[in-house]
Amino acid sequence: MSYIPVNEPDLSGNEKRYLAECIDTGWISSEGPFVGRLEAGVSAKLGRAYGVAVCNGSVALDIALAALGLGNGDEVIMPAFTIISCAAAVVRCGAVPVLVDCDPTTWNMRVDQVEALITPRTKALMVVHLYGLPVDMEPLLKIAAEHGLRVIEDAAESIGQTYYDKPCGSFGDISTVSFYPNKHVTTGEGGMVFTDDEVLARRCRELRNLCFGQRWRFRHEALGWNFRMSNLQAAVGVAQLERLDATLRRKREIGAVYQEELAGVEGLQLAAPVGPGAENVYWVFGVVLGVEVPFDAELAMKHLHQLGVGSRPFFWPMHRQPVFERMGLFGGVTCPVAERIGERGFYLPSGAALTDAQAKRSAAALREILA
Ligand SMILES: *Cc1c(COP(=O)(O)O)cnc(C)c1O
Repeated sequence: MSYIPVNEPDLSGNEKRYLAECIDTGWISSEGPFVGRLEAGVSAKLGRAYGVAVCNGSVALDIALAALGLGNGDEVIMPAFTIISCAAAVVRCGAVPVLVDCDPTTWNMRVDQVEALITPRTKALMVVHLYGLPVDMEPLLKIAAEHGLRVIEDAAESIGQTYYDKPCGSFGDISTVSFYPNKHVTTGEGGMVFTDDEVLARRCRELRNLCFGQRWRFRHEALGWNFRMSNLQAAVGVAQLERLDATLRRKREIGAVYQEELAGVEGLQLAAPVGPGAENVYWVFGVVLGVEVPFDAELAMKHLHQLGVGSRPFFWPMHRQPVFERMGLFGGVTCPVAERIGERGFYLPSGAALTDAQAKRSAAALREILA
């Protein structure tokens, strides 16, 4: 039986045709027309006035923080349980990440623990929707408004997901997404920054493009980066966006198969089907081994691999990252839930091209391991 990869994207639409169009017309750089089309298309989908395409979802966060002028000891409250990109962007701009633990059911940040962490230096909240369920935005936005805090929203894993019918990616002063191949829309590598503020949007565009001078191109008033997206990448993204609704439907179908196949398996916590303001879109289908199970995620994944099933571990909490420990960050911080699910959580094959039969085989392999 063939190996089931943890993610296989579905590229069966217009991807090839639009790529050929780039080659045929010679438009392969960021100057080509697909970039603007992708920006307009995704912004419309997310209900945002402006979208700025960049070369990945990690640098989208760097741009967001720089555009908001964060740095120099500013404190940013963010989840302990997330991808390194979030904390890396905060640390790199000179700001200080302040960590909040995650909810044991949704795995998203504990909104009720945020307010206690606010100090006079707190400038922003970084919100990250994880694994297919949105963060409980209403109380968070209220806290942000009351304390005059900026909101940065990382919607990389929730393109097309909503919170009480409002799109994820529509809540931040600046919001970001990724178009990595395991995301709901892929460009191979890519990302986007969104805002409704014209000034912020202009700053994001400048930062993405080396802050070239207005009058004299090569005289720079500020330092930017080359974080541009190519027309080739955007061409794939435009084709992907045409099928977003079908992709989301498929993700939910895969999630339903796993829920059914793994229901009642002892020692296994499944992704929550419902969270605040949304049903799970199952960006990936996560599971967490119970503390009574005599092995952790690493060993479970090794066994799954031997049974021909790919999987990935959950994120490793920020306060336990060797790089941040060496930098002396997060001394004394504990986040028990993030620590537990970091060690005991992993996700099963969840790509848009996964078949029901593959999902069933993956679930059967996991049942076998736990039996
Ligand atoms: C994938 C992801 C990113 C990073 O995106 P890249 O395009 O891989 O750089 C950032 N945040 C979250 C929550 C992600 O899942």
